Amino acid sequence: MKTLCHEHVVIDLSMMKNDPDAQMLDGTAILEDLQQTVASGIQRIIDVTNIGMGRDVRTAKALCEKACVAVSFSTGFYKEPFFPKIVLEKSESELAALMIKEITDGIENTGERAKLIGEIGTGNEISPTEAKVFRAAALAQRETGVPIYTHMTLGRLGLEQVKILKAAGADLEKVVIGHVDLNPELDYYLRLLDHGVYLGFDTIGKQTYQPDALRASLIVKLSNRGYAEKLLLSTDITRLSHLRRYGGYGRAYLMESFVPMLRELGLSDRDLNLMLSEAPEKLFGPF
Ligand SMILES: [Zn+2]
Repeated sequence: MKTLCHEHVVIDLSMMKNDPDAQMLDGTAILEDLQQTVASGIQRIIDVTNIGMGRDVRTAKALCEKACVAVSFSTGFYKEPFFPKIVLEKSESELAALMIKEITDGIENTGERAKLIGEIGTGNEISPTEAKVFRAAALAQRETGVPIYTHMTLGRLGLEQVKILKAAGADLEKVVIGHVDLNPELDYYLRLLDHGVYLGFDTIGKQTYQPDALRASLIVKLSNRGYAEKLLLSTDITRLSHLRRYGGYGRAYLMESFVPMLRELGLSDRDLNLMLSEAPEKLFGPF
């Protein structure tokens, strides 16, 4: 199943960002985008919206059902300053218990169980509360075996994230370090890959941060070194203005424009299939 590994079907970060564009709640525009995504060849979406990001599993599930795309949901907490009060109040093990509950029993009576912990993030430096959430995620992973997906601000502090997770006993073979493509450094990627983690090239299309030609060339370089099975692709669309109805590129851009760019640089069908289908299935399980 061709999978986008880091998406937000419905998300609302407008409270903290003080920006109505960060309120991606227009059902018509979202559905349209999902339908275009399916038409481009995508069959599954990993939704990494969690508690404090305006997560609305019921609505997101209904939209994905309408668009005929499979979706898997997440538990966990994002980063400063998006943490709900309970993250500050509760202990590491209490937070882990909350995540475990959403993984084993389901999310807010929706009947949907969280399939992963993500996106758990760090800012320009790692705050004590962010570190606590990382340790709680490792605890919850040890109990349930689900993958962890991280958010790096501007693609930095990945090695520090790995260090915290490793010390807390996480299975690094089931960890994705997210947003690596915001920091285009091949050596840095290789150092992260040495720990056994996956890398999320998951902001494809956000060309104000990095041109996609650079993303594509780095992906091909890593594939040529045998790492295609450790690379995951996505667009991380979070704003109304990213959707085509509002003038954006839409999630379909990945298959329609970015994949041809990879092919042009010589990426093989086998490696493409590893990134889009086999690696996500191995990590997140069959739908
Ligand atoms: Zn993120």
